[in-house]
Amino acid sequence: MDFDYFVIGGGSAGVRTGRIAAGYGARVGIAEARFWGGTCVNVGCVPKKLLVQASEYGQFAEDSRGFGWRGSRPEHDWAALIAAKDREVKRLSGLYRQVLEAAGAKVFEARARFLDPHTLAVGEERITAERIVIATGGHPVVPPIPGRELAVVSDDVFHLPAMPRRVAIIGSGYIAVEFAGIFAGLGAETHLVYRQPIPLRGFDEDLREALAEALAADGIVLHPSTHPARIAATGDARTLHLDGGHAITADLVFFATGRVPNIAGLGLEAANVITGPNNEVIVDSAWATSQPHIYAIGDVTDRFQLTPVATAEGHALADALFGPRPREYNFTAVPTAVFSSPPVATVGLTEAEAAERGPAEIYLTRFTPMRHTLSGRKRRTVMKLVVEPPRGRVIGAHMLGEDAPEIMQGLAVAMTAGATKADFDRTIGIHPTSAEEFVTLRTLTRTVGLPQAAE
Ligand code: NDP
Repeated sequence: MDFDYFVIGGGSAGVRTGRIAAGYGARVGIAEARFWGGTCVNVGCVPKKLLVQASEYGQFAEDSRGFGWRGSRPEHDWAALIAAKDREVKRLSGLYRQVLEAAGAKVFEARARFLDPHTLAVGEERITAERIVIATGGHPVVPPIPGRELAVVSDDVFHLPAMPRRVAIIGSGYIAVEFAGIFAGLGAETHLVYRQPIPLRGFDEDLREALAEALAADGIVLHPSTHPARIAATGDARTLHLDGGHAITADLVFFATGRVPNIAGLGLEAANVITGPNNEVIVDSAWATSQPHIYAIGDVTDRFQLTPVATAEGHALADALFGPRPREYNFTAVPTAVFSSPPVATVGLTEAEAAERGPAEIYLTRFTPMRHTLSGRKRRTVMKLVVEPPRGRVIGAHMLGEDAPEIMQGLAVAMTAGATKADFDRTIGIHPTSAEEFVTLRTLTRTVGLPQAAE
């Protein structure tokens, strides 16, 4: 065999697993045809967060008036932002390739395709490997409505030649609400079109409601319970026709309607690797596919679609196969954040999920954060703890408000360690912060999930 371990895909999952395995002395090969670092580095988390930060400066400029700053709001230069973002992405992407080579992996800038369960065509070469891992990620999907080719997806939006003045975004998941904040913050008339009554299905209801209020307060035009029907073009302008007969005219129509695994052209049938209805590669709890020597990690398994989960899977798999001992990760309480404006962050069960399992105590607070007592911006922070009686273990923590992602990372450690509400209560706060509210939530808001009283 040419390699002990061959990795298909140089994104977050693939680069981590290849680098760690090579570090243990395995003969590693890795193939990536498009961009090192994958979606996260090139057209996902990293450039997205830079754009979020760009949009925040506009809000800071507005909010600063309440703190005595005077003068007109500075103008934003979209081309300068994109050029600066591209430089950073190029630097990071290069680093991802470099760390692989430094660890001793052989890098292929090519597509890989299975010829049989141990053989791959990698560009013009034919290679064999003892073990193979599929880490090919995913790509955006668009509903099949007429005129969909006139719209863009997240891959395109990072390279728009000019900042659109009017934007219609379809969906209300992570990408939709994040880009609603980016475009609105940079001054675009922004419409959010979504089929649910409130955004972010799957998140805690109190946060979802508060996010809808905050988006509207920032001037985003919300179109809840609405489906896109078709898109038409008039010159450079786009008209998004909605199911109720209304239409939105915009410079950009942007679908943020989910992502599906990348398996096209992989030749999985030649390797007898079984996939599911969403094209996901089916794996067991140790990331093995239907072929015990072929593994799959990250978005191609369509489980979490979160970069830190993908890298953790890659690391854990390399440790299990080549390391001195297996690595333990907690994949049950995975923290996650949506970099909307304001951001949302969460770990563990929502109130509704907890209520389905049995009784849960809910501690909820809503308040105006200190900055906005002077800024004049209409913005409330929401925090919630979900507690499981009788031991009082904290099984859910949720926040909408500035710094929520930074705060939630710390709470996720506490929850992974099994912290109880009593542990939160005996923790000293840091004053004055929003975060201290998580350790001063004294009043029980409600108990949910109690058995119904007999009639
Ligand atoms: P999401 O699954 O988060 O959201 C998809 C949205 O599209 C939902 O609002 C969904 O509505 C809607 N939708 C799906 N199909 C249709 C349709 N046919 N017509 C109208 N609306 C539709 O996907 P995203 O594209 O936002 O992001 C993909 C994934 O990437 C996320 O799930 C997340 O895991 C990851 N991601 C993570 C980020 C982070 O960690 N901050 C940032 C960005 C992405 P409904 O709710 O009704 O199904």
